[in-house]
Amino acid sequence: MTNRFSLAVHGGAGTILRSQMTAEKEAAYHAGIQAALRAGYAVLEKGGDAVDAVVEAVCALEDDPLFNAGRGAVFTADGKHEMDAAVMEGTHRNVGAVAGIQGPRNPIKVSRLIMDRSEHVFFSAEAAMKMVLDAGLPFEDADYFYTEARWNALQETLKMRAEGKESRDPARRHGTVGAVARDMRGRLAAATSTGGMTAKAPGRIGDSPVIGAGTFADDQTCAVSATGHGEVFIRYCAAHEIASRMRHAGETLAKAAHHVVMEDLARNNGSGGLVAVDGEGNIVMPMNSEGMYRGFVTQTGRFETFIYRDEEPA
Ligand code: ASP
Repeated sequence: MTNRFSLAVHGGAGTILRSQMTAEKEAAYHAGIQAALRAGYAVLEKGGDAVDAVVEAVCALEDDPLFNAGRGAVFTADGKHEMDAAVMEGTHRNVGAVAGIQGPRNPIKVSRLIMDRSEHVFFSAEAAMKMVLDAGLPFEDADYFYTEARWNALQETLKMRAEGKESRDPARRHGTVGAVARDMRGRLAAATSTGGMTAKAPGRIGDSPVIGAGTFADDQTCAVSATGHGEVFIRYCAAHEIASRMRHAGETLAKAAHHVVMEDLARNNGSGGLVAVDGEGNIVMPMNSEGMYRGFVTQTGRFETFIYRDEEPA
């Protein structure tokens, strides 16, 4: 077995157009993705676990207000934050997932706590909170999670909704962060964290914490972290479908992921994309939307980051 390691991260997919970007904004997104890759790489290059690497990478993205998770999470229709997160490791299929949480600084650490300390795998926010308090994870008040851009996006969406003019394009409203990794020992892991979709109904849960939809890891096939229109990713069991195609049909990761993103999801209004890694450390980052903040690094130490769909690895 090869001992190569690799890591890929995403900062959300959607309507990301060059015409709406500035050089400063592009630079900030590249820097945010790069910082997440560096956080995960620091774990992997020392021979650390894939699951630690994906949690570190996702924490970096949750701390960056540019991305829709943690600090930069979008608002629900009633102006609150409800965050979803999940982590999974592919050797024993251990999982931790949480939905609708508000307050903990890093929702992905809440997932990790559930994975490490509970006999259960998926908690609603209220039930997870006791565990979070007992463990002493850092909390933040509502101001910390307030960003002007997200608040303005909510007002704009609510106004369009009230006028019956809400865009049918859900790609405007989404974003998420996630990471997948293969470590030196061939272990795979995936982590995903999100504020969900702007102006979502209170109580709505997306695909990110649903194992097999937005997050999945299995050493025998692949690890996947998705971003996109969560309802469709759930209906098509997007992440697990990729693993199934590999396992049952013998497809490569590239072929399986392409099929799910470009056919199953795209043909059913499931805009978005994903990052995935297989047991050999091969990475794919397919999307059917205009862009996806994304990047990868392998043991060569070359960090590559991208924004638009037409950009290809050098
Ligand atoms: N998949 C997330 C959700 O539906 C949003 C996104 O990834 O853009 O909650």
